[in-house]
Amino acid sequence: ANSTMTALGTTVFEVMSALAREHKSVNLGQGFPDDKGPEEVRAAAADFLLNGHNQYPPMMGIPELRQAVAEHAKRFQGLDIDWQSEVLVTSGATEALGDCLFGLIEPGDEVVLIEPLYDSYLPMVRRAGGVPKLVRLEPPHWRLPREQLAAAFGPKTKLILFNTPMNPCSKVFDREELSFIAGLCQQHDVYAICDEVYEHIIFDDRRHISMMTLPGMRDRTVRIGSAGKSFSLTGWKVGYVTAAPELMKAIAKTHQFMTFTTPPNLQWGAATGLRLGDGYFSNLAADMQRKRDRLATALAEIGFDVLPAHGTYFVTADFRPLGFNGTDEEFCRHITVEAGVTAVPVSAFYQSQEAPRYFARFCFCKDDSTLDSAIARLRAHF
Ligand code: PMP
Ligand code: GLN
Repeated sequence: ANSTMTALGTTVFEVMSALAREHKSVNLGQGFPDDKGPEEVRAAAADFLLNGHNQYPPMMGIPELRQAVAEHAKRFQGLDIDWQSEVLVTSGATEALGDCLFGLIEPGDEVVLIEPLYDSYLPMVRRAGGVPKLVRLEPPHWRLPREQLAAAFGPKTKLILFNTPMNPCSKVFDREELSFIAGLCQQHDVYAICDEVYEHIIFDDRRHISMMTLPGMRDRTVRIGSAGKSFSLTGWKVGYVTAAPELMKAIAKTHQFMTFTTPPNLQWGAATGLRLGDGYFSNLAADMQRKRDRLATALAEIGFDVLPAHGTYFVTADFRPLGFNGTDEEFCRHITVEAGVTAVPVSAFYQSQEAPRYFARFCFCKDDSTLDSAIARLRAHF
């Protein structure tokens, strides 16, 4: 058996974006905004690039960004974070996830994961020697199956890794669900790694609740954020990890040999972003909500069964009412080639063969004109 990373396929995001380029389709697959991101943030990074110190920044990240991460956690979550011992800057949330998994998992440790899951989680958990214990959410409401979740925890469980707001199914965990998970973490002495990259992309007056704010969870939660998502700058790959000092030591040990550091001008830009006023963050959410409505309404009119989307860049749509009989992979390929619109098959976010194969994930963080042209193409086709 081939146990190297070469046994993996290419990530669905790259596959679908390449197909979109080949067929010149409107790419609503891979999640990246059309928006250029706040001018002040880009200007700060540009100015630093021209005039700043462009050599290795400190391994933990520049102090300005680590302080900004701590202030932002205080402002939005009421958390008191010590920026010196509890904040680490990484090259995107992707590196943050790798640092946490490689830093905290010992071979044979069990890791609880919630399906559908972001595509990098499973390969990384496995490569770290972790044994995945998957619990599945069922559409259309994606409620937490409490009994199954409780059964997934045991004496070998080291940590749970989950994502809220959740890619790809756009679920936002509420306080009751988080409390239930928190209870299990404490009962079994388990860490929670929370991928909170969409913390500001949340809709309909919901509020993002960080697991770190729940009773008993302050020192057993690792919180991960991304400037890519909070400032619509996905190419920057600036992430940040917040964790209690003991956990942070293990995570930082991995980071030092993974990337060691992240471009200083982008860190400076991200610090500027995290200090933007409350209005910036509420506008970001309002803007994305409007885009969600624009796309979701049109997809429903075209005949898709559109699922609720409470956060993230994405809406999930069941294509069976359109009369398409193939799998989700076939559907996404079909609309790319025949309609000129690209989406991502949701089964790519599952480990198992029995994944639902009738959902396409559409990304709505695009200019209205891009959304309208995708909608027009789908209308013309179906
Ligand atoms: N986690 C989730 C749930 C994501 O959707 C993404 C990126 N889209 C990442 C992590 C990776 O973020 P970054 O680009 O900052 O590495
Ligand atoms: N997270 C983005 C998405 O879900 C893609 C990230 C990537 O391309 N690796 O679309």
